[in-house]
Amino acid sequence: MSVKEMQKGLAYASQITSDRELRARELKASGTQIIGYFCCSVPLEFFTAVGIVPYRILGNIHEPISRADAYLETSMCAFVRSCLDLSLKGKYDLLDGMVGIHACDSIQRVYDVWNYCHRSDNYKYTHFIDMPHVVRPASIIFFKKQLGFFKKSLEVYTGKAISDADLVKAIQLHNENRKLLRRLYDLRKNDPPLLSGSEAVEVTLAGMSLPVQEYNKLLEEVIAEVVGRKPQWPTGGSRILVYGTLMDDTTLTELVESAGGHVVIDDSCTGSRTFWHDVQITADPLDGLAKHYLDDIPCPRTYRDFEGSHRDDIEARFRYLGELAKDFGVDGAILSIVRFCDLKECDAPDIRDYLQGKLGLPVLHLGDAYDSTASGQLKTRVQAFLEMTEMSRGSN
Ligand code: SF4
Repeated sequence: MSVKEMQKGLAYASQITSDRELRARELKASGTQIIGYFCCSVPLEFFTAVGIVPYRILGNIHEPISRADAYLETSMCAFVRSCLDLSLKGKYDLLDGMVGIHACDSIQRVYDVWNYCHRSDNYKYTHFIDMPHVVRPASIIFFKKQLGFFKKSLEVYTGKAISDADLVKAIQLHNENRKLLRRLYDLRKNDPPLLSGSEAVEVTLAGMSLPVQEYNKLLEEVIAEVVGRKPQWPTGGSRILVYGTLMDDTTLTELVESAGGHVVIDDSCTGSRTFWHDVQITADPLDGLAKHYLDDIPCPRTYRDFEGSHRDDIEARFRYLGELAKDFGVDGAILSIVRFCDLKECDAPDIRDYLQGKLGLPVLHLGDAYDSTASGQLKTRVQAFLEMTEMSRGSN
């Protein structure tokens, strides 16, 4: 019996999240190619169009970093160090290849080191996508060209041509996936939320090692299951927005839940950032893909020109956070930023001022050491923050 026939819905999502290779191993045994990729800026539609399963490279906060420090300095983003560490310990051995992208300097560096370290394993395929840091007409043209190179490289590797129709079909499948994820997130607008923050983390992570067609079916099952079950939590807990680098573990959501709160929405690169906007289907599908992946993902790795005051710039950049806070009835925000993620750390003071000053939300800024041994201290801080949020709700 196939793994996907053994469990359904939330139970299957949880199983896949705890053993990410479970279904991928099965697919690989039947001849499917599994290619790793870093960052949500890599356009997955190209893999789907050619029948490859994209496998997101993630770290593990529960696994001490012991081997990567021989290759990467310790003052580097702990997430990418953890990813390399896992690969050096053989946790990514099932991959047939790897795609990197110039998301940030750390991700670019780890791609080079990764390939150096695994050169003797003879990856059958590697490719690097050069992504500009600005959104201007010329940079969209440049990025479209890069996506053309990426498409060509996959065609050469697989020996299959990718037609515009293949790409449009793949875009439709991934847009369907985005729509289902937004529907799932909508279930968190209720009081109490119909889906907990920890369940949402598990469901989003599950999709990062499955073919999109299977993930869409899983999301339909999960939505039906969640809508059909009785409310699981009492009403009235504090509703928290988590802004952060990535949410690839349930430690933080569980701490919030154990203190009586709910993480109802996130802005992270394993969560809403990856699916809040659809890819527009354009006459040349590369145009819609270039525009989406360069402009629609609100990551500070991308700079947008703005003429006006700093205050107006902040309003233009973070208005979407205000909209999320309003739509999901948020009472407080946690900034969970992986230590040495320079991009997010540089933005954090402005985000904190916007959330506190403009929206009047209590904010807790956590420097995420990407290490589960720090969870005792984290627990105390989260509990104290939720008490403060409760008091601030009471006084409003
Ligand atoms: S923080 Fe930005 S660059 Fe890093 S993985 Fe997320 S979206 Fe990509």
